[in-house]
Amino acid sequence: MPTGVLAFVEYDASGLRKSAFEIVFAGRELAEKLGGPLSAVVVGEDPSGAAPALTGLGVAKVHTVADAALARMTADGFGTALAAVAAEADPAVVLMAASMTGKDAGPALAARLSCGIISDVVGFDVADGKLAAVRPVYGGKVRATVEPAGWPVVMTLRPNVFPPAEGADGSGEVGAVTVDVAGALRAVIKEVREPEERKVDLTEADIVVAGGRGMKDAENFHLVEALADALGGVVGASRAVVDAGWRPHAEQVGQTGKTVSPKLYVACGISGAIQHLAGMSSSKCIVAVNKDPEAPIFKVADYGVVGDVMEVLPVLTEKIQTAKSS
Ligand code: FAD
Repeated sequence: MPTGVLAFVEYDASGLRKSAFEIVFAGRELAEKLGGPLSAVVVGEDPSGAAPALTGLGVAKVHTVADAALARMTADGFGTALAAVAAEADPAVVLMAASMTGKDAGPALAARLSCGIISDVVGFDVADGKLAAVRPVYGGKVRATVEPAGWPVVMTLRPNVFPPAEGADGSGEVGAVTVDVAGALRAVIKEVREPEERKVDLTEADIVVAGGRGMKDAENFHLVEALADALGGVVGASRAVVDAGWRPHAEQVGQTGKTVSPKLYVACGISGAIQHLAGMSSSKCIVAVNKDPEAPIFKVADYGVVGDVMEVLPVLTEKIQTAKSS
């Protein structure tokens, strides 16, 4: 029976992504419980720069797959590269973030390994060699405990749930794996349009300030942006405002948008429909501003302000700016 854990970690131009540290933290814990080694894999055009940081985090072996065809994420490319590394590392569990990349690469890998996938995991335990993973279902109303039917299994972990790994003793090795990625691609990305301004990924943000239809107009979102800036957070949105064209789909939180688990989620003029709650109810602290005291969002909120967003948001922003400068 395999006992190791293989952590697929993501990086960008500034180094390992925040989720990478969370995956390594969870990977260390899981590997210890399973009694096997923790290895990691980084893939990309040139992932060599990301590898050293991992060996200092207690990863026994870092596999790198370098290929020009991995410059952009594709399910075929990443799935093929990860499957080749999994064949070499022979892990019991392949861990990755339930990020946009992980949600695409995870199933692609599981299909290639002919194994199961447990997605959006928020906790796990191992007893008598059996893994039990916990994941929210029915929009976060219920938590299901899932046991894999066999090994290996792919698990995607919800971002912002596990703490980041810190430095550990020991130095791991780094080894390159050669894979024919280009030959596996069934579609080629011709063009990618980057947003003009690159902000922290919504799913990895510690603070999200989201606006809903109660903001009345796209122009009023400057109030949401100002509060997000004052708090050092990023802007999110309900589907109603995305459908209205007030905000881009990349900001949508919910069942058909992104799942976020920030330390602080501020819902401004959002009713709290079940499909919206599905994407944010695991936030650590929820603050709601809504003029309707019966709005469902107040049922999940830790703090609530019954009031008009047009009046409340400027005051909140000013108070936070004053508190920061004093
Ligand atoms: P509303 O429900 O219209 O709520 C506006 C709120 O603003 C109200 O509570 C009102 O009291 C308050 N308000 C109004 N004016 C003010 C003011 N001046 N000051 C303070 N408060 C004010 N929704 C999502 O968000 N994400 C999803 O991913 C998503 N996926 C969906 C998938 C499916 C299959 C379906 C059917 C629906 C989905 N929805 C999703 C839509 C969802 O059901 C709701 O319609 C949507 O979340 C409502 O957005 P809202 O809260 O901004 O608007």
